[in-house]
Amino acid sequence: MIEVKELSKRFEGRVVLDGISAAFGPGEVVALVGPSGGGKSTLLRCLNGLESFDAGTVRVGGDVLEAGGARGEQVWNIRRRVGFVFQQWHLFAHRTALGNVMEAPVYVKGLGRDEARERGRALLAKVGLSHRQDAYPSELSGGEQQRVAIARALAMEPEALLLDEPTSALDPERVGELVDLLSRLRADGLTLVVVTHEMRFARELASRMLVLHGGRIIEEGPPARVLDSPHHERTRAFLGLDR
Ligand code: ATP
Ligand code: MG
Repeated sequence: MIEVKELSKRFEGRVVLDGISAAFGPGEVVALVGPSGGGKSTLLRCLNGLESFDAGTVRVGGDVLEAGGARGEQVWNIRRRVGFVFQQWHLFAHRTALGNVMEAPVYVKGLGRDEARERGRALLAKVGLSHRQDAYPSELSGGEQQRVAIARALAMEPEALLLDEPTSALDPERVGELVDLLSRLRADGLTLVVVTHEMRFARELASRMLVLHGGRIIEEGPPARVLDSPHHERTRAFLGLDR
């Protein structure tokens, strides 16, 4: 469970997150949507300590991040509990798919190589990439690289996974596969928070949708309700329903 309370953040004096409160529970997929510049990526980055903030708290189980508080150990704990899949995946170019997935368990968790390899194979199987375990990132398609990045995040056994615009580099067929994969992870009890511009993807995948505008959550609800009958005029404008 990730709990955010009264989270505020400024960049160069400009308010980017303005008192965000939200909770993300196990087995829940939350889609973060809203206009460009609304603070979606910034919020996501605050959720696992990639970004500091000016007020409020982020709590993951017993680990708490506070504004301006000491960040060392708590940040490490939270990063282990909350995985992040970057838009550009950031795989290690000189390691194979399996090597990428083994890296953190070996070097961060101190797992033996044999055990890490076995678990890495199981994770690659889970994301449907057993047959590509010895390929290097440059030999993999965009969708395959993304699945390696997801397997790599899962290798730390996180409670939650954050994904920033995971469909942006995928063709429509691959988007369907990503929905299937993320749905399976959700069924395992993982918390998923997904920033997306694709409303169809959000509708298929998410159990809840948050609309972020100007650093605030202006609307929240099941995707079908938010998309089909938005309450807030800014949500309507964002969805292009006012024309
Ligand atoms: P998009 O849909 O375009 O990805 P977003 O909702 O993810 O947008 P953010 O990236 O969170 O938006 O940015 C929110 C605001 O904060 C924007 O006005 C952006 O210019 C600003 N911002 C983001 N990162 C920085 C930074 N490192 N320094 C200064 N301003 C920043
Ligand atoms: Mg963004």
